[in-house]
Amino acid sequence: MAHNLILVLNCGSSSLKGALIDNESKELVMSCLAEKLTTPDAYITFKKDGEKHTVTLTDRHDHTGAVGALLDEMKSLGLQEHVKAIGHRVVHGGEKYSGSVVINEDVISTLEACIPLAPLHNPANLTGIRAAQTIFPDLPNIGVFDTAFHQTMPQHAYTYAVPRELYRQYGFRRYGFHGTSYRYVAPTAAKLLGTDVQHCRLIIAHLGNGASICAVKNGESMDTSMGVTPLEGLVMGTRSGDVDPSVYSFLAANAGMDEKTVTDMLNKKSGLLGISELSNDCRAIEEGADEGHEGAKLAMEVMTYRLAKYIASMAVATGGIDALVFTGGIGENSMAVRSKTVAYLGFLGLEIDEKANEATRFGAEGVISPAGKKPAVLVVPTNEELMIAMDTSRLAGLSS
Ligand code: ADP
Repeated sequence: MAHNLILVLNCGSSSLKGALIDNESKELVMSCLAEKLTTPDAYITFKKDGEKHTVTLTDRHDHTGAVGALLDEMKSLGLQEHVKAIGHRVVHGGEKYSGSVVINEDVISTLEACIPLAPLHNPANLTGIRAAQTIFPDLPNIGVFDTAFHQTMPQHAYTYAVPRELYRQYGFRRYGFHGTSYRYVAPTAAKLLGTDVQHCRLIIAHLGNGASICAVKNGESMDTSMGVTPLEGLVMGTRSGDVDPSVYSFLAANAGMDEKTVTDMLNKKSGLLGISELSNDCRAIEEGADEGHEGAKLAMEVMTYRLAKYIASMAVATGGIDALVFTGGIGENSMAVRSKTVAYLGFLGLEIDEKANEATRFGAEGVISPAGKKPAVLVVPTNEELMIAMDTSRLAGLSS
């Protein structure tokens, strides 16, 4: 192992995902997942060459402890000296960043200023940055923002119909997320179509636990379903997506629920979980629906109907569709979600070839519409870690 390695970190409030990527081959060398951080039950699991092992973090159960354990693991594998830079997934860059940046104290101050826009995410990302600076004091840190790709959205797409003073004073506008995924998927999809991303109109549905959709025209985001926070838009695992904003006053008046309780409910107890009263996990929903579980069946219907409505509305932003692209854990794997959604969209010329739909799962990419049919329907597995590693390599001066 003589190559330069890039460490990619993605920190949540109680979790840390890490990936070590070879800067030349762009292959994943090892990965880790720390969970239950900040509790005494914290642990970290390392995965390399298909082998997994777990280390408890009882005596160092915060993010710095997890990064320290990762350093120990890399040392024991002789990898540590090859790590040349660290790339961080940062959820909210506000309006300041339309691309990735080398993190310095100014950037950290800006991210702190963005905390009111992303109170659930940015503090965790900052914790990860501080942990990396503590454990690897000599390495450059690069910030890659979920919001950056959407900075090309036109004003009419990002403006909420509320008093404009709220935008001027507090930056209250639509920002959009999953930008790193869209930035990877768009050119890959264009290649599958045999064209260049600069010359096509794509509607990309990133469907994971969090889910959003993006209208990409000639390589630029024109509109997306998430808003000032990742709560707006599609039905997600535990997030409601679009709901009448009167939910706050309605539940305050009728259920005595305060603002914090409603926010928590909309983020953590809604979506597939809230509708099905069974699970937030799409696999469990599909199994439940197949077995006749009423809640699971309804959750599946609401999710796919909302998704289809959004796909049709995104065609307004792109002015037509060359391809609809599915990505994310659900988009890459769920035949049922793809099939049910596209069934609503025949009037736009969209159609699925069920054989191709069945064959294109578990990491495969490909066309799932009938041969030659336009617009096409594609599946493109996302790779946000690779995108972060490539930006990190470039900004740290490691790219040839
Ligand atoms: P995250 O947003 O956390 O990165 P993922 O992109 O990993 O999430 O997606 C997780 C979702 O993908 C879960 O709802 C899971 O049930 C769903 N999923 C994974 N594999 C399948 C499958 N074979 N069939 C249906 N859904 C799947």
